[in-house]
Amino acid sequence: MAVDYEVGVIGGGIVGLAFAWEAARRGRGVAVFERDGHAQGATVRNFGMVWPVGQPPGPDYRRALRSLRRWQELAAEAGVWVERRGSLHLARHALEEQVLHEFVERSPEVQYEWLDAGETVRRFPMVRADGLRGGLSSPTEHVVEPRAVPGQLRAFLAARHGVAFFPGTTIVRADVPTLTAATGAAWRVGRAFVCSGADFSTLFPAEYAASGLRRCKLQMLATAPQPGGAALGVHVVGGLTLAHYKSFEVCPSLGALKTWLKSEYPEYFQFGIHVMAAQNSAGEIVIGDSHEYDGDITPFDSDRIDRLILDYLGRLIDLPDPGIARRWSGIYAKHPTQGVTYLEPRPGCVIVSGVGGAGMTLAFGHAEDWWASHDAPNATNTSEL
Ligand SMILES: Cc1cc2nc3c(=O)[nH]c(=O)nc-3n(C[C@H](O)[C@H](O)[C@H](O)COP(=O)(O)OP(=O)(O)OC[C@H]3O[C@@H](n4cnc5c(N)ncnc54)[C@H](O)[C@@H]3O)c2cc1C
Repeated sequence: MAVDYEVGVIGGGIVGLAFAWEAARRGRGVAVFERDGHAQGATVRNFGMVWPVGQPPGPDYRRALRSLRRWQELAAEAGVWVERRGSLHLARHALEEQVLHEFVERSPEVQYEWLDAGETVRRFPMVRADGLRGGLSSPTEHVVEPRAVPGQLRAFLAARHGVAFFPGTTIVRADVPTLTAATGAAWRVGRAFVCSGADFSTLFPAEYAASGLRRCKLQMLATAPQPGGAALGVHVVGGLTLAHYKSFEVCPSLGALKTWLKSEYPEYFQFGIHVMAAQNSAGEIVIGDSHEYDGDITPFDSDRIDRLILDYLGRLIDLPDPGIARRWSGIYAKHPTQGVTYLEPRPGCVIVSGVGGAGMTLAFGHAEDWWASHDAPNATNTSEL
């Protein structure tokens, strides 16, 4: 069968780009179809945190480290801005401290370090000393610039690997081998990956509806660049984050902490808020976030949610300029139990979805794993899927 491209990728967010890159590394001829002129989805709306510490020790953590190495490769070869920041989980309550100590004890393969309050403030002077018990420091987390990443990867993949890009192209049918755009234009591909993020309705709506995948909306804020080049120096989070990431489920005291947090911060749990702060390449502090699902999602952002996020952040750090310069929200796809969801609605057509809040952290690793387990030498037909 003659094809225009061995691999067609629908969606130019980080997941689509990761699958395109991995296919191209394996010598495939690849095309990426993106609905917008420039990707506008979750990939350009996130913190830019590459966040291995949120992954449970073991295969997930190691997948995050493999993804991180791909970011470092992009920094060296494509000029992508990737900076090591580390992370700091602050404890202001005895149960938060207890969970963090348990986490250090149960994560022997990782270089986590407990800092007492004095040492925390000495290393990171923006952290508030009052009420502080200490913090868990990890050196591994990085930051990238989400608004720049899709364009930089696109340029790199086109120049290095000859990947073809079709911006402004909405694919409305994916009956492999034929991909059809809304304009009626069509291409023949050997296999297709549908990496359409939180769009569950344009392609294969019945399969998405049956999958258990959910849509999740997050509210975000950013300050202006901090004056005088003031540096936060690390990604900062507080105790609410311990209830959010699976990595802390190894800690025996997590249940007690969650019970306490829910009684202390009921409104934060109502809106799924935990608070993170990351400084980007412009010196802005990017702050988030909330988590509202499916029917609770509206186009309108809530000032109450923003206020709750900023109040909590104000207990963790003192910013030289805490004024908010930008607000936005983003939506990602998430599955209640799966870290990534693969569906095969047609032979040769794979939906890759549900990476949730970890796409920047894990997409390259998922792509590597998928191709490693499905690739066969010289295979360009679709039967191997
Ligand atoms: C506010 C927020 C903060 C986050 N923070 C982090 C973080 O710090 N670290 C981290 O690891 N993860 C973070 N995430 C998660 C991460 O952003 C996502 O997991 C990731 O961006 C998902 O990538 P994606 O490619 O699946 O989706 P998207 O980036 O949404 O891309 C999907 C693309 O597909 C295109 N598309 C859809 N349908 C079609 C079609 N039919 N034809 C053509 N094109 C189509 C869309 O236009 C879109 O560009 C965050 C997410 C949000 C929303």
